[in-house]
Amino acid sequence: MTDHLFEQIVNTSQDCVFWKDRERRFVGANRSFLDFYGFTSIDEIKGKTDEDIGWHSNPEPFKQDELRVLAGESTYKVLGRCMKGDQERDIIASKRPLYDEEGKIIGLVGSFSDVTDVLRYQNNATASQQLYTWDSLRVYPYFDQILDHIPLTDILDPLTGIVNRRYILDLVHRLIADKKPFCFAILDIDNFKTINDNYGHQVGDEVLMDVSEALVRYVGKDGLIGRFGGDELLMLYFGASDVTGRKEVLKAMYDSREVVRRTLILEDCRPFLTATTGCASYPEDATSFDELFGLIDKTLYVGKNKGRNCYVVYEKELHKDLDLKQIVKKNLPFNILKIHSLFDTDDPMPKRVNSVLPLLEMQYRIASVYIVTGDKMVMAGDWVNEMATDIKLPPEIQASGMAELPYLMENCPLFFETIATKNQHTAIVSRIPPESGDDCYLVFTDRRERRIWQESETVILLLLADLIAGCMGKGSALDTELTNADNIEGCEYLKSNKS
Ligand code: GH3
Ligand code: MG
Repeated sequence: MTDHLFEQIVNTSQDCVFWKDRERRFVGANRSFLDFYGFTSIDEIKGKTDEDIGWHSNPEPFKQDELRVLAGESTYKVLGRCMKGDQERDIIASKRPLYDEEGKIIGLVGSFSDVTDVLRYQNNATASQQLYTWDSLRVYPYFDQILDHIPLTDILDPLTGIVNRRYILDLVHRLIADKKPFCFAILDIDNFKTINDNYGHQVGDEVLMDVSEALVRYVGKDGLIGRFGGDELLMLYFGASDVTGRKEVLKAMYDSREVVRRTLILEDCRPFLTATTGCASYPEDATSFDELFGLIDKTLYVGKNKGRNCYVVYEKELHKDLDLKQIVKKNLPFNILKIHSLFDTDDPMPKRVNSVLPLLEMQYRIASVYIVTGDKMVMAGDWVNEMATDIKLPPEIQASGMAELPYLMENCPLFFETIATKNQHTAIVSRIPPESGDDCYLVFTDRRERRIWQESETVILLLLADLIAGCMGKGSALDTELTNADNIEGCEYLKSNKS
């Protein structure tokens, strides 16, 4: 190929192309390269290394990079940075050794393109919402003072468009310093990892944007929303002066289904969204930032431990002795030991169920436990005078959770209609196989229609069912127990078709 032809081809490329000798000195470069750096001719750099030109404040990594290429390594489309005048630019670069006819390395050739604007466009495309304006933030004296010096984009979280962690926390510090009362809450999306895992991070991002927008809209001028990080949003609220007021605000928010407890209509999927909220107030519950933050963290954990999809408002009498470490510790092993210690193996089954019910209520928000066998049904902890013994699982299934709820509702309509009259809508059913006679079922119910059972909750409930089965002698013994249940302390009522 003639030099003339080569020159035409290389100068047509929009990529910046350059080539160097074995000593890393420039030999040639195309038009795009010269234009990029503002050189009029190759003579301005010919024979010079990057260090001679003074391109990098720390030239060593670039030097090592080129030495590796001169030793035979090639790189292809590597994202990097370079200086253009006093500007740092993002580039995508490829480099490879130059060989002579004998296959000896005589230098290197590199090409790159400037992708700074493309990346900026992509980043902006993701950060597509700004939920607060200059005017809406100015009502807070803290923002009024800083907004003249700091651009709004530095204050907002780039993904969700709500106030970012640094500025929402600074505002909280400032409100406390100014002794301004407010209510502080943390809302953490439930099982957000599952949303990411099932639908991808892009959908996860859309969920975060959607919830942020809904929350900002919901609190309006009465509050301010910020992002603490990940799937945790912070809420400042100025319109609730006591515990009852705070509970009402959060109840209304949960009941409205405008923010949480709703199906998100996204382009490719429709995830059902729930979240857990912990809430405390300044100065009623805490007088310092650390104390206040500790309380919302603690109440959030209480809510997560209760089975998620709920809000917990700090109340001194209820929560003052709760130690966060203890709440976290109250997990599977702790609860198994506790449950085991709660009932006496000699007790009849309904009494055993009754003795663990308070723990189940507190830790897992289980509303009731039903024991159903043949034509008999007992509801632990409360009066029951209906017969709803159509509970059944297909023979191959040992236990059924939330996932099979449609199956249960279709196949056990009487049971579900009955518990619905007690405002219970969800159930975990566990079968205790009898040695003879009818199957026996332990059914744990909950009030929330769309409760998402956690793995640890399902495990503990099924284990509990197994524990009860293990020490009860199964089969006919159970039948006797139920028949005699009205004589047993702790079992409020038993009704049997046979009796
Ligand atoms: P829990 O109900 O206990 O809150 O369970 P969870 O799955 O929501 O657990 P956790 O709060 O620990 O998970 C948060 C996940 O959020 C972990 C992280 O991968 C993901 N995440 C954090 N930031 C972002 C983000 O900006 N976008 C997306 N898509 N995911 C994020
Ligand atoms: Mg979460």
